[in-house]
Amino acid sequence: MAKETPREQTLVIIKPDGLSKSLTGNILTRLSETKLEIAAAKCLHVSRDLAEEHYTALRHKPFFEEVIKYIMGGYHPRKKVMAMVYVGPDAIQKVRAVTGATNPEEADSVTIRGQYGRITTKGVYENVIHASTSLEEAEREIKLWFEPDEIIYDLYLTKTVEVTVKKRVWTSSVSSPASKTVTPVSRPIIKKSKKIRT
Ligand code: UDP
Ligand code: MG
Repeated sequence: MAKETPREQTLVIIKPDGLSKSLTGNILTRLSETKLEIAAAKCLHVSRDLAEEHYTALRHKPFFEEVIKYIMGGYHPRKKVMAMVYVGPDAIQKVRAVTGATNPEEADSVTIRGQYGRITTKGVYENVIHASTSLEEAEREIKLWFEPDEIIYDLYLTKTVEVTVKKRVWTSSVSSPASKTVTPVSRPIIKKSKKIRT
């Protein structure tokens, strides 16, 4: 059955400094002021390919390498991000308003970046959060970070294709305590027919 389509959607990423400083709860609380709905959420390690594609518009900027290193967690102990899709009326503008200006020193002090961001001595803007700035940017970014089935609404057109790939699955036995060590995993390879965005 087709899922309901909300009015507007935006990609939000809590960057590695936000996670390393245990700011996740504070940032989610600030975002909840928008009264928007979370339609997807996940933690992930950002690959170089994903980072470069996400920041492709900044490729020719002098700070490009620093921004890539930053989003990949190169400056922080928690080398991961939390990516989310927020949906609802005026989602892009509402999230940007609570996010604040790009430069954390110039961001209004009551915004997320004004409260929690900083500029490092190397000049990197550690501004704790990413938020899409337009409908077009949101579509490109959401399609880059999320698969259709990771989002609870049908935001964009999809098609179903047959793919043959390997996939990790849980074993049936209960894990012994010794085998419960948490190790970062790379993306699973999936063997199934899947929806892709068009
Ligand atoms: N950035 C930076 N220095 C700059 C401009 C941008 O370090 O002079 C980084 C910063 O982390 C910012 C990201 O690059 O969030 C993307 O830049 P953009 O201009 O898209 O700003 P945003 O949309 O994040 O406010
Ligand atoms: Mg931007």
